[in-house]
Amino acid sequence: MSNIESNSNHIRVAVIGSGPAGFYAADHLLKSKEIDAEIDMYDRLPTPHGLVRNGVAPDHQKIKSVTRVYDKIAKDPRFRFTGFVEYGKHIHLEDLKNHYHVVVFATGAQTDRRMNIPGEDLNGSHPATEFVAWYNGHPDYRDLEFDLSCETAVIIGVGNVAIDAARILCLSEKELRATDIAEHALNTLLNSKIRDIYIIGRRGPAQASFTNPELRELGELEDAVPLALTDEVEPDELSLEEISASGDEAVERRIEILREYAANSVSDKRKRLHLRFLLSPAEIVDNGEGKAGTLRLMKNELYRSEDGSIKSRSTDERIEIPAGLVFRSIGYQGVPLPGIPFNDKWGTIHNEKGRIIDPGTNAPIPGLYATGWIKRGASGVIGTNKTDSAETAACIIEDVKNGISLKPNSTGNGHVEELIRERQPHYITYEDWLKIDSLEIARGGECGRPRLKFTSIEEIFTALKGTGYVTEHFGADKS
Ligand code: NAP
Repeated sequence: MSNIESNSNHIRVAVIGSGPAGFYAADHLLKSKEIDAEIDMYDRLPTPHGLVRNGVAPDHQKIKSVTRVYDKIAKDPRFRFTGFVEYGKHIHLEDLKNHYHVVVFATGAQTDRRMNIPGEDLNGSHPATEFVAWYNGHPDYRDLEFDLSCETAVIIGVGNVAIDAARILCLSEKELRATDIAEHALNTLLNSKIRDIYIIGRRGPAQASFTNPELRELGELEDAVPLALTDEVEPDELSLEEISASGDEAVERRIEILREYAANSVSDKRKRLHLRFLLSPAEIVDNGEGKAGTLRLMKNELYRSEDGSIKSRSTDERIEIPAGLVFRSIGYQGVPLPGIPFNDKWGTIHNEKGRIIDPGTNAPIPGLYATGWIKRGASGVIGTNKTDSAETAACIIEDVKNGISLKPNSTGNGHVEELIRERQPHYITYEDWLKIDSLEIARGGECGRPRLKFTSIEEIFTALKGTGYVTEHFGADKS
């Protein structure tokens, strides 16, 4: 690794988190001609790529192929990945301040929002985020249990995560086997008794968050037919006004797709996917055995709020759906990081364009930055993180050029290597990850699947041992 201290704009950067936002931030900094950056990227998991590995649906292999871009970034001799090292556990803010000029937090949004309704904590009621992590083989979630022995599952929320979770419940055996879904999830889903899957929006289709390609995909499922109700699909006066004012053709197309689904009749497909709108969850009722049995919902109407946005409010009308499985899919939420100012209301780090702000003084804290979902909240697609990270990188470059950065005691690589070796001897380099990657793909190939993931830390290290993995290779990777 080069260490060009002669360049006054030479900086050592720590990026915490190896999802898309972390990689794009690294890429922007490495490509900058105005600074000379060296990047150390850390992740608490042994595997990189964040939600591309653990969030993107396993049947969306094309989206997952974005990791090739990250592999290319990782090849830069000024970039180094260190996996299985957790901020706040193995490496602390003070350590980072001692070793780096700049620290970028790209930790994403690691938890879910709650509905705050009675019965939310009954067995059978789960955050969709956990279901997603489970079927994607995230080591922290692999041992969760989802009981798919009931006939009806309900997903609250009409964003793309809700669509993903619903689609996974709908896939046929053939469709599932074509994915890299974790083996434990595949086995559970193959024995699923679920036949009716509901997706519930509190507002109308015009206000739904899901995107049209994802909605359209529901009409192409081998084993499930998407259904909707004309009454709920047709926009009311307020929504029509909103559509015409925005001129958003995507909303018009969305309603067209839903009209097609409303015209569908129950077919000979084994499963039915019901898209419902203008309903808010009110209570999950116990089935008498401490488990979710019925979901109570209030019918809603739309109104224009004082800020001009269209909101929902409940009417007196109530409906019930018998449901042994309820997923809340109402958004991801960031978690606070030790020593970093956090906005609890937004679930994000206090920041302005990526510069972390001291809430006491409202001034930027030199050298500390945020990017991705922990900066702006859980919104947008993978590509959104490219522009988001460009904004953060631009702030970093401007500040460095103005002499604003942390003032590390130790600027060489050696000291931080020693520290990591001491705190986490079982760290993982990008070269280790590439070996894990090839092994997973090879295992998948043996059973006709794109990849068979290692889903526990133990499995990962056992596999690595067979490749001559040594823990003392830090720093030897590309120099
Ligand atoms: P999201 O897009 O923010 O959707 C959240 C949904 O939850 C909205 O429909 C929202 O309705 C609803 N909601 C919030 N609070 C609620 C409550 N108390 N009761 C009932 N409904 C409530 O979140 P997401 O689906 O978790 O997705 C996160 C981000 O990841 C999004 O940007 C998404 O596009 C992206 N993503 C993309 C893909 C893909 O590209 N294929 C896949 C997965 C995720 P209101 O609008 O009424 O608040």
